[in-house]
Amino acid sequence: MIPYGQQIVDQADIDEVVQVLNSDWLTTGPAVARFEKRISEYCGIAEAIAFSSGTAALHAAVSSLNLSQNSEVITTPLTFVATANAILYAGAKVVFSDVDEDTLNINPDEIEKKINSGTKAIIAVDYAGQPCQYDILREICDRHKLMLIADSCHAIGAEYHGQKIGSLADMTVFSFHPVKQITTGEGGMVVCHDKSLAEKLKVFRNHGISTDFRQREKMGSWEYDMVNLGYNYRISDMQCALGSSQLNHLDEWVEKRNQIAGQYDTAFAGIPGINPLICRSDVKHAYHLYVIQIIEEEFGLSRNEIFRICREKGIGANVHYKPVYLHSYYREKQGFSKGLCPIAEKAYNQVLSIPMFPGLKQDQQTYVIDTLTGLG
Ligand SMILES: *Cc1c(COP(=O)(O)O)cnc(C)c1O
Repeated sequence: MIPYGQQIVDQADIDEVVQVLNSDWLTTGPAVARFEKRISEYCGIAEAIAFSSGTAALHAAVSSLNLSQNSEVITTPLTFVATANAILYAGAKVVFSDVDEDTLNINPDEIEKKINSGTKAIIAVDYAGQPCQYDILREICDRHKLMLIADSCHAIGAEYHGQKIGSLADMTVFSFHPVKQITTGEGGMVVCHDKSLAEKLKVFRNHGISTDFRQREKMGSWEYDMVNLGYNYRISDMQCALGSSQLNHLDEWVEKRNQIAGQYDTAFAGIPGINPLICRSDVKHAYHLYVIQIIEEEFGLSRNEIFRICREKGIGANVHYKPVYLHSYYREKQGFSKGLCPIAEKAYNQVLSIPMFPGLKQDQQTYVIDTLTGLG
């Protein structure tokens, strides 16, 4: 089976991890600080705080807003459930706003209709790795005094108007799950401009305790103070050593993902009913996913039929995503129902993610292309 995504781990990665295993620190040591510094430099932003997962990083980011049960946070329904779940963890209300038909990113025109006096923040998701329209989102947030969080778990390495993703929102969240551009096994990061916000996130990561073990050791003190209800969301030094080593390849791998996307675009250009998503000219796409939309009336087969055929023929196609509010929990426990975001629901029946990862071989890609174009 050719998977839809797959990591690359080389000997240099392994050597870096082994070096940590032979050192004095296995967690929250120098490798964590080094990985944070390297990500912050890469993104061109002052602060970076590593977490045990992208989900933990999202939880920390949303919690830092000090929301109440009357607070509302607007986000897209076409995302992994973790984006919306983070809003619920923080005790606030999730408001889903529909997506743009061409990119399947949150549609700024729809957002304005959802804003009211309870609205506190927007969480934008760079769907498939394509940056959202950050200039418009920023303007909306400034005008309504909202915080802008970017769930850029798909988009490390992407650019918007020549600027790296990571520097465009008040907080940006990355994931280092193995299907993402670079991996730490499990892991995540929040990057932000504000130093006091960064401190708050670090405290949240460590049970709400205001100093970490290394700081206490330096001060020669045993005493610690828990100032807030936090979590153990720390990431280990082994993981961060892997992350730093992976980061050496990020630009090269994003380039490779763009090359693969270019070949898919060309191959599907003349095929009615296989419509790749549109890539806007003002962005550099990071292609976490390569998503096509199957128009059954034009192609002759439905997305579900094509999905089944792909799996039979050894192509690990996938569907990203079922709109979050159609999951049982959101329908039954949060009171959402079908029809809320028609564009997202329509897309859900048409989208198919096909193999996209930097290690995809030319003959594998040719096989995927020949299989799909041969069906119509
Ligand atoms: C992967 C992902 C997450 C969660 O990241 P984990 O590291 O798996 O916890 C959150 N949001 C989006 C959009 C993702 O793709």
